[in-house]
Amino acid sequence: MIQLKRGREKSLKRRHPWIFSGAVEKVSGKPQSGDTVELRSASGEVLARAAYSPQSQIRARVWTFDTAQEVDAAFFRQRITQALALREGLPAAKHGNAMRLVHAESDGLPGLVVDRYADVLVAQFLAAGVERWREPIFDALAELTGCSAIYERSDAETRKLEGLEARAGFVRGNREASRCPIIEYGLNFKVDVEQGQKTGFFLDQRENRQQVRALAAGREVLDGFCYTGGFAINALAGGAARVTAVESSAPSLEVARENLAANALDGPKVEFVHADAFSHLRTLRDRGAHFDLVVLDPPKFAPTAAQARNAARAYKDINLLALKLLRPGGLLATFSCSGGVDAALFQSIVAGAALDAGVEAKIIERYSAAADHPVALQFPEGEYLKGLLVLRA
Ligand code: SAH
Repeated sequence: MIQLKRGREKSLKRRHPWIFSGAVEKVSGKPQSGDTVELRSASGEVLARAAYSPQSQIRARVWTFDTAQEVDAAFFRQRITQALALREGLPAAKHGNAMRLVHAESDGLPGLVVDRYADVLVAQFLAAGVERWREPIFDALAELTGCSAIYERSDAETRKLEGLEARAGFVRGNREASRCPIIEYGLNFKVDVEQGQKTGFFLDQRENRQQVRALAAGREVLDGFCYTGGFAINALAGGAARVTAVESSAPSLEVARENLAANALDGPKVEFVHADAFSHLRTLRDRGAHFDLVVLDPPKFAPTAAQARNAARAYKDINLLALKLLRPGGLLATFSCSGGVDAALFQSIVAGAALDAGVEAKIIERYSAAADHPVALQFPEGEYLKGLLVLRA
């Protein structure tokens, strides 16, 4: 049982799922990491059942606000069933075979991420609570999805904050995991679930890649952080005149080349550049290069608000360069996946970049993560990806 300090039950009453260490008055009953505990207010009212994580600053993550509900294998089966039902109803389900099936807190399963790549599932356990329930979760996932192979990718840095070791490998089935083919809106991509970034593919950008595809016809396109070619290949599929795709990771570029070859597209129109985008965009500017559509989807510069200042500098730098590379009438699709930089801050950074670049520009669309990455209304931290489509005058 965890008893909270006076007044610290407020966030629970708003149904926020996290209890920070500073809110804890006392812990009784000697719970172990991952055990289910009751959360009580200072006056003794039982408010929720949660997973205990003694090493994390997030000391407890709520499983349920229904204090009579058992947290057992059936509980996880039910939550996963609900998460799957949400995805089955999404329009994107008809246009591909890759989707985020479980999006952690926003699906009522704190710390659990599950992505589906065709008939392979990739699962990440990022908190002590879900770690405790790994086996029943694997059983439920295998049974409810019918996928024969499950790869565990519990190698994210955040596990250290929970006192958990990294773990990766097949936990169900076994197969060649380094190139799992998927289809997204008629395009072929290979997903390296073992070595790729995150779980192998950035599913959150699925719908935004379609936006870029729809805008690309006849344009010269620059994709600044191309990973395995997501935006670049969509731009080509949308009829881009030329595509320059920059990426600093050589293995990602190798997959990008394979992905290009896996589609019936005019491959020679794409130039892959193995470089640091910050310096390569400067090089392009110095050469007097220009583009009609620039996509910037950089990595997470600021995981938390504490890193927001440095992140802001990096975002401003790259957006300023991109705006300078745009011809008049050109478009910039610019993204931030940093939890520590919210939509308002991101917009002001891009505004600052336009000011310093000496260009007039306006926002004509706003983007967010695809619908298989829901944001629970009581968990605004779940909102991390934001994008702007900016038209240069
Ligand atoms: N838009 C991609 C995902 C991009 S993820 C898609 O749709 O799939 C961000 C990418 O930026 C990663 O592949 C990472 O390797 C790359 N990256 C990180 N720092 C970089 C840098 N300084 N220059 C170029 N690429 C970089």
